[in-house]
Amino acid sequence: MGSPLDIIPLDHWLPLNSSPLIVAGPCSAESEEQVLDTARELAKIPQVTVFRSGIWKPRTRPSGFEGVGNAGLVWLQKVRQQTRLLTTVEVANPDHVKVALKYDVDILWIGARTVVNPFSVQEISEVLKGVDIPVMVKNPLNPDIKIWIGALERLNHVGIKKLIAVHRGFSFFKRTPYRNSPMWEIPIELKQWCPELPILVDPSHICGETGLLLSVSQKALDLEMNGLMVESHIHPHEALTDKEQQITPEHLKILLSHLIIRKKSGTIDFENKLEELRSEIDKLDEELIDILARRMDIAEEIGKYKKENNITILQLKRWSQVIRERVLAGEKMGLSREFLLKLLEAVHEESIQRQTEVMNRENNATSTSSS
Ligand code: PEP
Ligand code: MN
Repeated sequence: MGSPLDIIPLDHWLPLNSSPLIVAGPCSAESEEQVLDTARELAKIPQVTVFRSGIWKPRTRPSGFEGVGNAGLVWLQKVRQQTRLLTTVEVANPDHVKVALKYDVDILWIGARTVVNPFSVQEISEVLKGVDIPVMVKNPLNPDIKIWIGALERLNHVGIKKLIAVHRGFSFFKRTPYRNSPMWEIPIELKQWCPELPILVDPSHICGETGLLLSVSQKALDLEMNGLMVESHIHPHEALTDKEQQITPEHLKILLSHLIIRKKSGTIDFENKLEELRSEIDKLDEELIDILARRMDIAEEIGKYKKENNITILQLKRWSQVIRERVLAGEKMGLSREFLLKLLEAVHEESIQRQTEVMNRENNATSTSSS
């Protein structure tokens, strides 16, 4: 895939109190008070080194909050002056870069929507020629490692050697438990291609909610990623963007305290192979859950239909036929009869349960409306 990047290792330009590197801060800067209150709380967490905040927000639709613009740079300057934190901001075009540099932002980052476009990345790179500033590059929206590498190369070619890649998951058409599904094999491949390139993981944009943050963050560390970028807001429920996925600084402190930093085990090749296989299992499990959920939705439809036609839920003849056919098909695929019977029984039980709920719901609705 061509020659790797000319990188200055992370610990040469960013001495950390503790490893991994933690970047935290709100999705968007909203007011001076929100920025400074969040930053002051984050600065109390020893592991947090960099304060993030978006000021030009790429929104899906133009009616959304599009960021406070240049005013936010003054607030970030205050964060630098009043706390020990470094600052980082998302830049999407050369004008953003110029003004961010003028206001002494410490680190720039390029977002997923910009990385997909080599024209934009090239324009940004050109204004960075001869500038000594670290740049973080998020993965593109789609799982294309070459575009990600291309963006890193464009920056490297103009002399940016303090580079960090950020895995923030990929956008899929299919329903998955994540807002942006992680595909761990991609950052692993990136690491294999350029072992000196530090890689962070952004669990906030991967999860899209707070419940999965810990497990995704732990997984990132277990895969020897170099740190995390986490969205943290002083009042997450009032956030103007990405409300569901932001956590308070206090919550972040607890999350960080739960992370286990494991010793490296096995050889890197062994770990990578193992991870590749586990990623395949993860994807198949996701599909399995998706298929089961769809199957149950259809079972509910059937329940409604039976109800409308006054037919009983349990149709023994149909069920015996399903068992016979599925066991036969499963055995041909190498699955044991015992396993297939257990699985089908569990699926059947859940279907009946769902159909019964539909019947009861419809009965209640009828009796309420007639009373
Ligand atoms: C963000 O970090 O707030 C952001 C917009 O991220 P991404 O580019 O990963 O969507
Ligand atoms: Mn965000």
